[in-house]
Amino acid sequence: MRTIIALDFDCTIIDVDSDHAILELLPRDIHATLCDQYASVMPWPDFMNRVYEELHRTGRTRSDIETIFRALPLPAAMRTALKLAKESGAVDLVVVSDANTATIRECLRANELDTIFSEIVTNEATWTDTRLLEIARYVPADAAHGCRRTVMDAQGVAVASCTVNICKGREINRLRAGYDRVIYLGDGQNDFCPGCELTCHDIFMPRRNYDLHRILSGSDGEHIQANVMYWSNADDVLAAFQSIFAEPEPCTLADAQPVVGSIKAAAS
Ligand SMILES: [Mg+2]
Ligand SMILES: [Zn+2]
Repeated sequence: MRTIIALDFDCTIIDVDSDHAILELLPRDIHATLCDQYASVMPWPDFMNRVYEELHRTGRTRSDIETIFRALPLPAAMRTALKLAKESGAVDLVVVSDANTATIRECLRANELDTIFSEIVTNEATWTDTRLLEIARYVPADAAHGCRRTVMDAQGVAVASCTVNICKGREINRLRAGYDRVIYLGDGQNDFCPGCELTCHDIFMPRRNYDLHRILSGSDGEHIQANVMYWSNADDVLAAFQSIFAEPEPCTLADAQPVVGSIKAAAS
């Protein structure tokens, strides 16, 4: 059985949000002003471009930024889990993230994981002399991805599940060609759309107690057809991968031992 494992990056592969780690480098007053004025009204990569512009203006260097990327907390058990999956045979790994190429590549390289991923789907970032990193939207402003899927936010209001610059559901439908099974791990609101695209042959692994878990615990959870395995930390991911990939091939769904059943029951 050929399997593709797609993982979100922030709060999934690593245990924090990488852009928030960068925001901490800003002087406190500029941090507050930028967040108040722009964070909620700009597409996220555009906002981060403002942040990198300010970091450059306040004397931060590429070396400062890359030091942060290399120090992002990637749990040892996550590293073991990813290597175990890759070494188990017919498995390919991809990152699907709304962060950027510079952050993800530097972090994976520092953890000696850069060679096990076959693709990193994210916003392209380039080092420049004028603003440190310049991040281009994965989906350009003039080429809307067209996803109209919504979720209930924490106030019970229907909002777009995907950000304007990436629809991870569309990416999963592209990436899954040639594979028998998708395993998807994520924590955030924009990980709901790919979850809805998974079938009963796939495994959806939402992180417990993050936004995606809240969304799935409500009526939106009824849209999920995949087998669902919740996880809280990297140790859980390692245990899940050990059980999934310990099966002798060919592996059938009945052998795979995910938690099958109503998503509300699994979420509670
Ligand atoms: Mg995330
Ligand atoms: Zn979408």
